[in-house]
Formats: sequence, structure tokens, C-alpha cells
Amino acid sequence: MLPPIYFYCGRIGAIGLNHDRGCARTVESGYHLMELPTKVLIGEGVISKLGEFTRESSAGRKVVVASGSNVTSKVREAVDLALGQIPVWVEIATADTENVESVMKAASGAGCIIGVGGGKSVDVGKLAAFRLTLPFYSVPTSASHDGISSPFASLKGLDRPYSLMAKPPVGILADIDIISSAPRRLLASGCGDLVSKLTAVKDWQLAHRVKGEYYGGYSASLALMSAELVLERSKSLGRFGKDSVRDLVEALISAGVAAGIAGSSRPCSGSEHLFSHYLDILAPDRGLHGEKCGIGTIMMAKLHGIDWRKVRTSLKNVGAPVEASEIGVDDSQIVESLVKASSIRPDRYTILSKRRLTSRSARTLAESTSVI
Ligand SMILES: [Zn+2]
Repeated sequence: MLPPIYFYCGRIGAIGLNHDRGCARTVESGYHLMELPTKVLIGEGVISKLGEFTRESSAGRKVVVASGSNVTSKVREAVDLALGQIPVWVEIATADTENVESVMKAASGAGCIIGVGGGKSVDVGKLAAFRLTLPFYSVPTSASHDGISSPFASLKGLDRPYSLMAKPPVGILADIDIISSAPRRLLASGCGDLVSKLTAVKDWQLAHRVKGEYYGGYSASLALMSAELVLERSKSLGRFGKDSVRDLVEALISAGVAAGIAGSSRPCSGSEHLFSHYLDILAPDRGLHGEKCGIGTIMMAKLHGIDWRKVRTSLKNVGAPVEASEIGVDDSQIVESLVKASSIRPDRYTILSKRRLTSRSARTLAESTSVI
């Protein structure tokens, strides 16, 4: 039987205990645990250093690599060569429990698990390693969301559509040559996930004021800094030259680290993520995570009374979608997601809990921001 999955909803209340990370007891406890990646190797061509990077866990041990179907044969060969052994490759079709179990099965007796690819393989590898208490290394081939460094993972088919608490990767190896050649849509999606920190932090501040929830100013500032990369430099960033891609990857890693410092997804995930998660239910497989979060950020920024036009312009400049039709979602799905988003995670107080949108006010919000 699999160990239980832990839903994270606040500060960690019991250092050393690997269960019951509930928010009620943690808020009372007054302390929280920070779990952070130990090392990051970033630069052009660093894939060749993967063996050295993982040596403490891979030398003389079986290595399991969780990867997506879109990982090119060139990358696979580079991984095999760098590791100096042929690892057990497990192809991840979907980020679900079944695939997590496949990786766990393959990883029996292994020294570590490496996730090579985009979101799915990193999420599945991270959860499998967490359950087996094995070191996990993240090797992103695109920069589409902050899961490449965060302690969280998203799985499909669970009763709750938001991220699960796992552990951050022990190491992140980001080869800028590989990530730069990812489709631009994925890189633009990463910008959408970054810009969402703006409203996530606003929601966190609101929850602190209204509910007395712990608020970590340092991790909030760190998350905001990563959003500013997109808000202040969208035009040059949107060309996605190698320097820009490196900045984008570093900002995504930094956002994941902000969550690690907060001991919570609060600095990275607020009402705009709840909106995105509800769209995942209503319109599965439409739009990428960061694309939906970006569109959500435009509307949540307006609810918070901050400069939503700047968010919209920045997203447009990097080539990320700003209208529902661009991700194949219809008006009624946007409206329903706005109305019901807060219900999927009632413990997370956000601007949507405060404003309690009706169908009418939700439609007005979406129309006034040109999302529909
Ligand atoms: Zn996200």
C-alpha cells in the first residue's frame, strides 16, 4: 500500500514528523520548516555534468529517470553519456497516481530518481522520490512553471485539484541550451506562472490582515521579485534569447525557493491559481498551467485594485495568452471558474473569498479586463 499523500495548507507544525501538515495546528505552533534545494547547476551545456552532479546518489547505484515523450533522443543520449550508465527510463504519459507507482516500482533499490522533461515528469518523479524517501534531481527541458524547484507537485485524478506537498528537489540542473530550444509557448507559460506571484502575495497579505495568517515578508519579496522580471522586462524577455531564458529559469527556481522559505505555497499561489485549478476541472487539457494563471492574474489584479493593464501588456509582450479564446476556453467556463474557484480550497483565504463573485459580477470582471 502507498503511504498517504499529504495536502499542504499552511505552516508545517511538527518538524521531523512526516505527516499531518495541517494548517490549524501549524498556525498555533508558531514555527515552520524550510525545505530547500541543496544545489543548482545552471548554464549552457551543463547536461554533460549530470553524472558529477548526482554522483553522491548515483555512483554504483541504479538510477531511474522519469521523462516525458517529448524529450528528444539527443537529450536522452546526453543523459546516458553523462551518467556513465544506462539508467532505467520510465516514460510518463500522464501525471497521475498510476505513473507515480510505475516510477516507484522501477526505483526499487535505486540510489535516486531524476525527472527529465517538463511538468509531468518532474511532478511524477518528485512524488515518487518523496514517497520512497529517495533523493530527487530535477532536469527541466522547458521553463513553463515553478514546479522545477518547488516542494509541490500536481497530479491529475485526485479529489482535490491543487498541488500536493512533497519535498523540493535535492538538485536542479538547468541546461540553458536545452531549455532555450523549448517551444516558445512553454517559455511564455513560465512567464504567466511568474507574474501570478503578484496577486498570490496580495492574497497572502489579505489573509494575514483578515485571518491573522502567518505572513513571511522575506519570501513574499522574493516571489514578487520574480514577478517583476516579467512586469519590468517583458519586451526583451519575450525574445527569449539565451540570457533571457537563463533569467526566466532563475526566477522560476527562486519562486520555488520562496515557497520553500515560506513553508507554504502562499507566495506563489493565490486566487489566480484557484481560478486556474477550477478551469482544469471544467476544461481539462485546455491551456497550460502558466497560461491559465496568467489570465487569472489579470482579473485578480483588477479585484485587488492594482495595475491589471500592466499585467496584461506584459503577458502580451512575452506572447502569453490574455483572452479565453486563445486557450480554447469559452466565456461560461471563465465565469463559472471565477464564481466557484474559492470553493475548491476553502482554507485558502483570497480576494475571491472576500468578494464572493456572482455570475453577473464575474462576467463584468472578465469583460472589463477583455478576458472574454
Ligand atoms: Zn503555478
